Amino acid sequence: MSVGNLIDGRAISAQIVGELSARVSALKSRGVQPGLAFVRVGEDPASKVYVGRKEKACADLDILSQTHVLPENSTESELLTLVNQLNADARVHGILVQAPLPKHIREAVVYSTVRPDKDVDGFHPMNVGKLMLGDPTGFHPCTPAGIQELLVRSGTKISGAEVVVLGRGNIVGKPMAAMLCQKDKNANATVTICHSGTRDLAAHCRRADIIIAAIGVAEFVKADMVKPGAVVIDVGVNRVAGKLVGDVDFKNVQSIAGKITPNPGGVGPMTIAMLMANTVRAAENSL
Ligand code: NAP
Repeated sequence: MSVGNLIDGRAISAQIVGELSARVSALKSRGVQPGLAFVRVGEDPASKVYVGRKEKACADLDILSQTHVLPENSTESELLTLVNQLNADARVHGILVQAPLPKHIREAVVYSTVRPDKDVDGFHPMNVGKLMLGDPTGFHPCTPAGIQELLVRSGTKISGAEVVVLGRGNIVGKPMAAMLCQKDKNANATVTICHSGTRDLAAHCRRADIIIAAIGVAEFVKADMVKPGAVVIDVGVNRVAGKLVGDVDFKNVQSIAGKITPNPGGVGPMTIAMLMANTVRAAENSL
């Protein structure tokens, strides 16, 4: 699963999808085809690309997907009506409302309207609470869940490690930190969360065994912030002069890191694989 010191997210996600494929076949033999509904509001180009990739992943796994597109000027109540219809539809095991939503719609209200047992994005407060409590019946958000799989499947020792998470966003940073500090064999790390209020962020990074960069600032993590041999996970997706760039200065950090994710080809494919995993689990739970 690695070439040189690269952690190959494409290969690891393909391995996970292969494992899921057997579970989809088992479900179908019991008369259940997993179903995932996507909801997009407006025509944000990046959202269209993301939903398109997720639709393709569903097709590859024989998960039945349906995509609902509402116009940009839809009201919050129109969106909630659609979410409630999907909540009530037995063919739909998972619901994903693609962010960002237009400014006049409150994301938190939408996320708490998705039925927790169909919340394959893991954003409903009940699933957030279960994550904090270490309750395995909840759904974990897909990006941090994918990063944990990358660490485990690349043979990275997490238990006892000093982990520095850069960013305290609700989608990556905060759930990532909560996952890796659980008393669990695939976690059990000592976790520090850094953000814009952190004093001497570079010093925190320099003592980390694992750095997870999720701040959305192009090439923020420089070589002099990384301890030799540390594992570096680059979550960032930043557009610079028409090119996509991560949060890590990959060119200079790669030779210092023990292991590092390429970007693209690291975290991105894992996010989609974990969405498929959550959907298959939601379908299994429906039996
Ligand atoms: P977010 O909610 O905006 O959070 C960004 C965090 O970074 C905030 O906590 C912010 O601090 C911190 N930050 C920003 N600039 C900083 C600086 N100069 N120094 C220290 N901290 C700083 O973002 P997000 O949704 O978590 O996403 C983070 C990145 O991951 C983005 O590039 C996003 O595109 C990417 N992403 C990738 C995937 C994937 O599948 N590959 C999935 C999700 C997100 P404050 O809280 O103090 O403002």
